[in-house]
Amino acid sequence: MLFFLKQNSRLIGAHITQLTTNSPLLRPSSTRPTLVMLRYFVPLIVVHTAAFLAVMPSLFSWTALAVCIAGIHVFGQAITMGYHRLLTHRSFAVPRWFEYTLVVLALCCLEDSPARWVSTHRKHHVHSDEHEDPHSPLVTFIWGHMGWLFLHNRELHQWSNYERYAKDILQDPFYMWLEKNPTSPLWFYIAQCVLFFAAPLTIGSIWMDWNSALYFAAGMVVWGVFVRTVLVWHITWSVNSLTHLFGYKNHETDENSRNNWLVALVAAGEGWHNNHHHDPSCCSVQHKWWELDVTYWEVRALKAVGIVKDIVPRREVRVEEAKKAAKKPAVSHVS
Ligand SMILES: [Zn+2]
Ligand SMILES: [Zn+2]
Repeated sequence: MLFFLKQNSRLIGAHITQLTTNSPLLRPSSTRPTLVMLRYFVPLIVVHTAAFLAVMPSLFSWTALAVCIAGIHVFGQAITMGYHRLLTHRSFAVPRWFEYTLVVLALCCLEDSPARWVSTHRKHHVHSDEHEDPHSPLVTFIWGHMGWLFLHNRELHQWSNYERYAKDILQDPFYMWLEKNPTSPLWFYIAQCVLFFAAPLTIGSIWMDWNSALYFAAGMVVWGVFVRTVLVWHITWSVNSLTHLFGYKNHETDENSRNNWLVALVAAGEGWHNNHHHDPSCCSVQHKWWELDVTYWEVRALKAVGIVKDIVPRREVRVEEAKKAAKKPAVSHVS
């Protein structure tokens, strides 16, 4: 009888939890609902608001729109190719100058410093769709998409977390400097705004009157920086939210990752997320011929021109290579 009551009280408790959270998964217990992360909240509100200036016809130009569209890919790849596949998973190798170029472009996306981004994503891979996952959409869609950024998560935002999940990143003096100077990513962002204003103003004033050149330059900042930033944010966040909710699975992984063609299309291949969770180290997430992975093909193109090397192949290939290496007779140094 006592056992029966205990079982039922557990079931009722679980049911109440589901009703109140509308989800079987709760946000991490290390998050504090009363403490807003102003470091993320304020820039998010300011940049989203600034992007709405794009509705002003006087700030529109076809050049600004083209720069925005090109920027979505170039700066988006700094996150996808740079922060994700290079820094987090080390699925290929590049010279330091090229890695720093990708990181500076990524800082211009205002998506946090390398150590914070990498540690959060590695933690996501270790605890995918579990209670400790920093941004599982199984809590709620909004939580997985952007809500997790707003609440302070004491485990996520402490030095020991970076040391645990991103020790290799902290060993780099530039990345350590960024961590020691927490406002530095913001200065990179502001510097690009100045550049996106000053360059078009200088060039535009050659053939425009001063007033037109000012509007042209302001439009370049609004479209080329603010609108682009917002779109790159939501594309990145869609990989966290949509691809853990909607799509199909090629592999029976132990979390809810999905392959989502829409996210793959806008995020240069990142939407084949179930393929990625199946084999996170592999540089390519293209497991079927039609699952196009634009990022992988760009990495291959960079290899063709000598910038990239040591591309990590699929797990099956790595296993075969390890077997072949094990069969090779050891070289004797005894003369
Ligand atoms: Zn995931
Ligand atoms: Zn990953």
